[in-house]
Formats: sequence, structure tokens, C-alpha cells
Amino acid sequence: MSSDKKVTCLVCPRGCIMTVSSDLKVSGNFCARGVPYALQEVKEPKRNLTYVVQVEGREAPLPVRTDSMIAKHLIPDVVKLLRTVTIKPPVAFNAIIIANVFDTGVNIISSAEIK
Ligand code: SF4
Repeated sequence: MSSDKKVTCLVCPRGCIMTVSSDLKVSGNFCARGVPYALQEVKEPKRNLTYVVQVEGREAPLPVRTDSMIAKHLIPDVVKLLRTVTIKPPVAFNAIIIANVFDTGVNIISSAEIK
């Protein structure tokens, strides 16, 4: 039985379907950018997260996002945390809403400005 893993590259819209062998050789990538992505995906998959937080005194929530990719397995916990957050205006675009979330080195930042 093969222990090869299939990974769909999400680095660009081409979406190459790559194969990572048990000795960590990557094939099926159209360009070199797919290799680190495939290896990371096999080791510890990461994703960007976009979500919203509540804003004091407003009905419309504030869109937020991670400032870099975060381990995929942590995303449900980050979402759970963001559901408890209510921020107070004003908020600048790209302001840090949660710094170093769960000690990952990743910040949750605002994707909009609120005056
Ligand atoms: S391997 Fe290169 S061309 Fe293929 S999806 Fe990834 S970034 Fe795009």
C-alpha cells in the first residue's frame, strides 16, 4: 500500500494536485512554490482565517483576519475565542485585535476601519 499523500496547492489559482512520497519528494507541482506548501501541508497544515468580531454600540460586526497562516487544527479554537470578543471603536485598518493568538506568533487584525 502506498503512503503517498495527495495535496492540492492553494498558493495560486492553478491548484496543482501534488503527491508527497514517504521520503518527502514532491511531484505534480507546476512551479517551485508548490514544494514548501506541500511539505508544510503534510507536516502541519496551515490556513488563513477570516472572521468577524462584535463592535460595541453597532450592529455591524468588524471583519478580522489572521496576519499570516495559522495551524489548521487551531482554527476552531480561534473562532470560539473571536465569538467572545467585543471591541470598542475607533479601530484602525490592520489594527491588532488579538496579539500572538494562542502563542502562535500570529495576530488577529482588523480588515476594516471603524471611526
Ligand atoms: S505548484 Fe505553483 S503553479 Fe501549481 S498551484 Fe502551486 S503555486 Fe500555482
